[in-house]
Amino acid sequence: MTGSALLVHHDKALNYHFHDSHPFHPIRLKLTLDLLAEARALEPSAMLASRPATDDELLQVHQPAFLEAVKALSASPPGPGWLERAEQYGLGDGDTPFFPGMHDAAAYIAGGSITAAEAVMSGRCDHALHLGGGLHHALSARAAGFCVYNDVSVAIAYVRQRYQARVLYIDTDVHHGDGVQWSFYSDPEVCTYSIHETGKYLFPGTGFVQERGEHQGYGTSVNIPLQPYTEDDSWMECFEQSIRRLVEYFKPDLIISQHGCDAHAYDPLSHMQCSMAIYDQMPAIIHSLAHKHCEGRWVAVGGGGYDIWRVVPRAWSLLWLEMTDHPLKRSLKQQPRTPLPQAWRERWKGQSSVSLPAEWLDDLTHWEGIPRRDEITAKNRESLAVALQDFPKV
Ligand SMILES: [Zn+2]
Ligand SMILES: [Zn+2]
Repeated sequence: MTGSALLVHHDKALNYHFHDSHPFHPIRLKLTLDLLAEARALEPSAMLASRPATDDELLQVHQPAFLEAVKALSASPPGPGWLERAEQYGLGDGDTPFFPGMHDAAAYIAGGSITAAEAVMSGRCDHALHLGGGLHHALSARAAGFCVYNDVSVAIAYVRQRYQARVLYIDTDVHHGDGVQWSFYSDPEVCTYSIHETGKYLFPGTGFVQERGEHQGYGTSVNIPLQPYTEDDSWMECFEQSIRRLVEYFKPDLIISQHGCDAHAYDPLSHMQCSMAIYDQMPAIIHSLAHKHCEGRWVAVGGGGYDIWRVVPRAWSLLWLEMTDHPLKRSLKQQPRTPLPQAWRERWKGQSSVSLPAEWLDDLTHWEGIPRRDEITAKNRESLAVALQDFPKV
């Protein structure tokens, strides 16, 4: 199983930066690209520069008044009257505060996901990765959860319009992929799937199994809400069983997957107990499904992940290693204790407040299991069964 892969990036995406103490920090991208370079896993010839999304492309998903507000609040300082209106567009003092240059940076991120989708759909490459993307919470007329423009929805709308392809969106971020779900809730040609910590306890408070789509789109929205403190085995069991069934049933032409890595036990914003193992195994499943069902067509984007030193660079690098069939990825099976490049650790250790990991995977021999494991596993199986009740067995 091989396929050519491109990594889409533009330094302008690094300007998507709320402020220095905000958890969604662009250093996550730098740390990942540097780790890949040190691992000799990222050739310059595999990189593809992105362009900004046009207003017309953004308007396929977002309301004109929202675009106007984002542009106005990107000025430094914003013109008269706009500060008072920031809150109504989700850009007030909360999670997603406006910042100078916001429109340009967010348009580059949306354009990066379009660039990745175009590279795959045009046949230029089989797989494309855009780690700046994955802003899955942005809504039609409102920024939310660190997300200004919904690059994923914009890229899917682009693919629908230009190629009429059936798209399966797979969201593995610990938070429900609500913005993308609502964008295509009544569209039978776009299936949105999200596996996440249940909205009972976590932002954005949605993503329950009963959210199945509406009108002609009924049945093409799938949610697998998991219990807090879910560990690797239960997460992987729910993911693998549901996604195999869904791909077989929906028969997509293209898979777009979102790779927020905030279900890791270290993540400060969620309550899951997963390790790096799911970020090793899950991309391999998506990869094999793309080759089996979509002639290899697979676009992957980034997303959340707020342990920026220990989790994000490793998880996102493992994703790229999988997409490129890198020998290092395969060797992890035989050698799970493979060390990270020493030069990467040396370069960044002075800036990190935590001790940087020494190996690609987590050493689980000293991890304590959680006390309610059986109960959590059983509850997750119940959710899985309800979510899958209408899908034929394969
Ligand atoms: Zn491949
Ligand atoms: Zn998230």
